[in-house]
Amino acid sequence: MDALHEHFGFDSFKGNQEKIIKNILSGKDTFVIMPTGGGKSLCYQLPALMSPGVALIVSPLIALMKNQVDLVRSYSSKDNVAHFLNSTLTKAQIKKVRTDLQSGKTKMLYVAPETLTKQENIDFFKELEISFIAVDEAHCISEWGHDFRPEYRRLKEMIDMINDKLPIIALTATATPKVQSDIVKNLELRSPQIFISSFNRPNLYYEIRPKRKKDHTIKEIVKFIHLHKGKSGIIYTLNRKTTEELADMLVANGIKAVAYHAGLDATTRAQRQDMFLLEEVEVIVATIAFGMGIDKPDVRFVIHYNIPKSLENYYQETGRAGRDGLEGICVCFYSYEDVQKLEHLMRDKSLSEREMGAQLINETVAYAESAVCRRKVILHYFGEKYEGENCGKCDNCLNPKEKIEVKNRVVIALKAIQKLEERFGTDYVVNIITGKTNPQITTFRHDKLDVFGEGKEFDAHFWNSLIRQMMLEGLIEKDIEEYGLLKITEKGRKFIKKPFSIWVALNHQFEEE
Ligand code: ADP
Ligand code: ZN
Repeated sequence: MDALHEHFGFDSFKGNQEKIIKNILSGKDTFVIMPTGGGKSLCYQLPALMSPGVALIVSPLIALMKNQVDLVRSYSSKDNVAHFLNSTLTKAQIKKVRTDLQSGKTKMLYVAPETLTKQENIDFFKELEISFIAVDEAHCISEWGHDFRPEYRRLKEMIDMINDKLPIIALTATATPKVQSDIVKNLELRSPQIFISSFNRPNLYYEIRPKRKKDHTIKEIVKFIHLHKGKSGIIYTLNRKTTEELADMLVANGIKAVAYHAGLDATTRAQRQDMFLLEEVEVIVATIAFGMGIDKPDVRFVIHYNIPKSLENYYQETGRAGRDGLEGICVCFYSYEDVQKLEHLMRDKSLSEREMGAQLINETVAYAESAVCRRKVILHYFGEKYEGENCGKCDNCLNPKEKIEVKNRVVIALKAIQKLEERFGTDYVVNIITGKTNPQITTFRHDKLDVFGEGKEFDAHFWNSLIRQMMLEGLIEKDIEEYGLLKITEKGRKFIKKPFSIWVALNHQFEEE
């Protein structure tokens, strides 16, 4: 507490910070999963300041490194307390950094993964006293994360070359169970303490709207913005052209808006970003190129003109609304046509990338079509259980669909999964229940199982919806290692022995126009 007060001027720790810091100070491997704005940086900065030697902080974004270092320096009276080392520095600057490191004055050194690939740096680090290694944005390790960086895969190998006894702290704001297990495996964390903070953003309101014809959707957006006159908002679209078109349409309707995408030159991008931050424009219409590292606390709405390619992206992008804890409205327009556009974008990728991408898209589609509380589905995606029945802040909770009793149908689904020895994914299980054959089913003779066709009075849409909800209820789960295989949980086994009454609301049917 003294050190917290002395170095940062704060009076108390936020969330899990204190426990995390204690764990790091005791020299153990630590894994921190905390949503953006939760206070991750302090988790390694404070122990770095309190430990002998220098902490190495691996960070993927060279552009943000300088900001981070400036921020640390602003808390301290000494400029050499923190440095960064990456390809943007001149020879003279590198020399100065090295001198400060050797003198022991520097407590934090931010490095890019590329910095660690250079043998001369490794040799230099070997001679230093290093307190620990912090791997920021650790999800970059996983292909299942939203920002995979192949260099991150080699981190452990490089850290070991410096010293294989160093404690490692991994931090991320974006870890689904699959990404989590990738991080632990890849960094070879040694029985790490894992600290997971809640991802719930209670002040965000979530809504999905069916996307109709273009003109209609634009009218809806204009109307929405007029209702929120003078407030700041972000509209995300899939491609660059749409950002320009949409921004023009908004301007034509009397709304101050600019487009933002990676195709603009750096000066224009910086200008438009500033216009948004300084509130010279109300709305920025952007591709996903916009947002990383941007901290505008009072963004009041985030509109998705196209459905994003994963629920993870959706969470990150909507997460930019209501950072100050006040109102944040998140509206996503959904049409199946947009899903096909996303699939089309993957056409040139490798088979395994396409499969992975399809899986992520399916989960987003399931979210969009679900009649269950949006918050519950999002949190479930992050491996977190939302205990409330009605969050009161999503379209599905405010306008609930009628529920139906499904006890016997749940039993049919569970029995099918059991008879298939828990070795198949949703599509296969649904085919069995609805009595559809395909060459694989005939080969395995699964059409001879007694559950085959047992639920054929309901269609695949019904069974897909039910299976999703059985997951939310914790009766079944998807295997993390072999992605997609349905497994029955302990609770599910009990249910088979002694079924209880269970009510669910079925997915929305979105008509294709
Ligand atoms: P993250 O990296 O998880 O997105 P940051 O480390 O940027 O979050 O912290 C978010 C904000 O919270 C920062 O403005 C930081 O100064 C502030 N903060 C962090 N810890 C504390 C604390 N213990 N007390 C008050 N403010 C804190
Ligand atoms: Zn809800």
